[in-house]
Amino acid sequence: MTLVDIEAGLGQQRSTLDLQDIVESAAIFLEDASAREIIRWAAATFGDRLCLTSSMSDALLIDLVSRVKPGVDVLFIDTGYHFAETIGTRDAVQQVYDVNVINIKSSRTVQEQDRDLGPRLFGRNPDLCCYLRKVEPLNRALEPYLAWISGIRRDEATSRTGTKVVEWDAKRQMVKVNPIAKWTQEDVDNYMADNGVLINPLHYDNYPSIGCAPCTRQVAEGEDPRSGRWAGLGKVECGIHL
Ligand code: SF4
Repeated sequence: MTLVDIEAGLGQQRSTLDLQDIVESAAIFLEDASAREIIRWAAATFGDRLCLTSSMSDALLIDLVSRVKPGVDVLFIDTGYHFAETIGTRDAVQQVYDVNVINIKSSRTVQEQDRDLGPRLFGRNPDLCCYLRKVEPLNRALEPYLAWISGIRRDEATSRTGTKVVEWDAKRQMVKVNPIAKWTQEDVDNYMADNGVLINPLHYDNYPSIGCAPCTRQVAEGEDPRSGRWAGLGKVECGIHL
């Protein structure tokens, strides 16, 4: 099956088996393709039932995707625990790029979570906190789509070394597209500099990886960039990409 066959065979309604076939073929055909080619394929294949997610650490993925698919839906998980700089980056993204930012919230506010489960759940049970504030709200928000684009990279963590450029997201029964899976930090830095990509100002204050404020600390020179996430808790992923 060629990519042309794949795209030609797609209608609006698609079975899970169709989608899994698409993933298998596309992962092979697109392994050596550029990020832009991968995004172009995804946009042509899934149309408006394609979205991307962003943590608003920077707008690299937003820059890349909006050039191919203007007006694309960008899902931002508003956990209630973000740094003010992250919320500011989200608002700036909506002004600067041709995208539709969708703010996703947990079914409980932070105050309601504190009332029901006790304060500072992030310190006592970060997996449950991440599930309630990130994973479940995202799962709900992704339901209308056939595919989502993420910005994860193989070199970010050992848990991500096997990331394919197109994958079957079995948990959500949909397609996951990772156009910069093969990029290195140097590729990222070069693209950001060459294209004047909007960046969360916390990066200039030694926060190379940015999540919720209670679970993110500054990183010293030479430390693993992701070591500032859930430091001391033995946790490396929030659960969205597992
Ligand atoms: S990163 Fe921390 S505060 Fe944010 S959802 Fe996860 S545990 Fe809760």
